[in-house]
Order: sequence, then structure tokens, then C-alpha cells
Amino acid sequence: MMTWKPVAITYSVVEAAMMAARLESAGIPARSHQEAGGSALGLTVGPFGEITILVPETMVEQALAMLEGMAMTQEELFTSDYFRLHELADGVYAAISRSETGGAGSNAGFVDLGNSVLVFDALMLPRAARDLLAAVDKLTGNPARILVNSHAHPDHIYGNGIFPAETLIVATPTTRENIVAHSAEYLKEDKKELPGFIAQLQKELKEASDDATRRAVTTRITLYSALLETIDEVAIRPPEMTFKGHVTFYGSERSVELVTYGRGHTDGDAFLYLPEERILFSGDLLFAKTHPYLPGSIPEAWRTTLDKLLALDIETIVPGHGDLAGLEDLRTERDYLEALEKLVRQVIAQGGTADDAARVAIPAEYAAWDGARRFPDSMRFLFERLSEGGQV
Ligand SMILES: [Zn+2]
Repeated sequence: MMTWKPVAITYSVVEAAMMAARLESAGIPARSHQEAGGSALGLTVGPFGEITILVPETMVEQALAMLEGMAMTQEELFTSDYFRLHELADGVYAAISRSETGGAGSNAGFVDLGNSVLVFDALMLPRAARDLLAAVDKLTGNPARILVNSHAHPDHIYGNGIFPAETLIVATPTTRENIVAHSAEYLKEDKKELPGFIAQLQKELKEASDDATRRAVTTRITLYSALLETIDEVAIRPPEMTFKGHVTFYGSERSVELVTYGRGHTDGDAFLYLPEERILFSGDLLFAKTHPYLPGSIPEAWRTTLDKLLALDIETIVPGHGDLAGLEDLRTERDYLEALEKLVRQVIAQGGTADDAARVAIPAEYAAWDGARRFPDSMRFLFERLSEGGQV
């Protein structure tokens, strides 16, 4: 039997994952905590939130030497367990949720206007929102004066309450109405239902038959456990200012325009377009290489909105979910919405039910995408819309 010895201890899931990956790439098997039988991927957190990295006794010295050199190579802009920060242009940053850990719940970003900062979306986890504010402070030295809520979904607005009272939250009127009308109720439901939901995910993890599913479920367990742990820190704070069409924010160095084309992913999505830098913060109008969430959307309007966005001069897109993207991802998502509608129309033509629609296999071109669990819900949603004789 192999004897395992600890070589490092950390409170950062990301750091632990990086250390484990580094060790394994050098042929040193790494395990976490006392679960020496588990894999490095399923890192186990100890009773004090610590993660202990263990290696076989015979490889301790080699492992320590590897880990010592590692700190030197980690020269990141800003390190968060929840997101990876990218500087897209001078003063323009994307916070991309880390898929290898539980992540932040969604993506966000911020733009330095010279004497103040505009933050685009508040993330889901309070701790992630705190990291976002810390990143703003560290990288710009300016206050986060404006926070945009791209839409009302909890994974983008639960972080609102972490922002200082001086930060003005801006959204479309429908997003504000939705937050005022529903968010407190969603939060109450989350508080009640998260423990059962996480237990269900644990069960799914046990029953999972392939690594991709195991990874996806582990990510969700980590994310929702982190939410449950800090849910009392979530405070629903509705936007204090609304706009129709577009609104421009003027800073000492740069001005930016916040725009809405109306309905799409929800009934009032806002996006931020920086024409000079050719950067788009799309919110959930784009899920990049990730199954979009259709329930509650207005698919026909969503396609029209995507067509309009496709006409813009864009190089980089910060999507609501998924990695940094480009124009082709907008096109792919437009095709995706059309493809699903066609599939549902076939089910209806054959006299099928909503369950039949939900059972349709994911088309091969989207099979490798993240978020496959959203597909059946989206199919069911489209079935209900289309079978009512309505347009999608
Ligand atoms: Zn959304």
C-alpha cells in the first residue's frame, strides 16, 4: 500500500487545483486531504476550509521542489478563486468564471473611465462580488461608481448588495421591475431549496458514468455549496436608475454607452459596446460554447437582437457564461436557437408531447458544449410556446 504524505496546504481551491495539475504533469500523483484514494480533480476540503495536497511518501522531496518553483510563475493581474481576470484593452477587464472550480455563477467585467469605474454585472456569489470590487480597486484605484445589471437573473444580481451604497445600479426598466417583483422570492426559495438541490447533485455525481459529467456536476456542487454557505450575505438591491434605448456615462478619460435592444434572453437585456476597442459585454445574450438558458426568454426577439449585434464591429465578446468569445459565437448561438425550434416543430408535427421534446438528443454540433442540462428544459419551454400556436 502506498503511504501518502502532505506537501502543501492551502485555502484556495484554484491554488490547490493548480498545484495538483503541476504535480500530476510531472508524473507525481497528487491527492487531496485524507482521501488518498480520490482523484486530484475532486479536491477535498477539510473541516477548516483547508485543502491538503498529498503525494506518495517516496516523492515528497521531488514534489516540494516542484511546488517551490511554482509561486514564482503565478504572476497574475489579480487572483480570485471565482474568476480569471483578463485585460482586454487599456482599462477594460473581463472577469471570466473559473469553470475548473465552482466559479462565480456567471461572468462580469469592468471599464475604467479615468476617475471612476463602470462594473458590468455583479456575479452570483457574494465572495466573488467582493473579489470583483477588490480587483477594481487594485487595478484602477478608482471607485466603482456605476454597476450595470444586464438582466434580472439571480446569477447576475445576487452580488448587488456587496457594492457600496455610493455605487449607482443601472438597468432597463423591465430588469428593475423583475428584480423588484421576483428576486426576494427567488432568494427565499434558494434558501429553502439549496440543501435538497445539493443533495440531489451529490446523488447525480455518484451515478455519473463519465468524467465530463462528473466534472460538470462537481463544479455545480462547489458553486451551490458556496452560495448556500454565504446566502445570508445576499441582499436584494434593485437598480436605482433605469434607461431606455441607450445611456452614456462620461468619465475623465473615456465615455461608454450602455444599450438595450429590448427583449431577448429576458424581456429587457442591456449590453455594453465599446466601438473603439471593439469589445462587447453581452450579458446572457451570449452563452459561449455553452447551452443557453431559454425558459423565460423571447426566442424570436433574441434572434433579432443577435442579428443586430452581428452587424456591429466586434473583436472580443465577454459573454454571460463561457469563455471569451467572438462574432462567430453570436452566429453559432443564433443557429442554435433556430435548430432547437426546428427540432421542436418536428416533435409537434409528429404529435409528440413536451416530454418527447425534452427527450430529443442534443445535436452533434453542440454535444461538447457545457451546460447540457439546460437543453431538455429549453426544448420543453419551446414546445410549450410553439404548441400554443405562438411564435417563439
Ligand atoms: Zn440569464
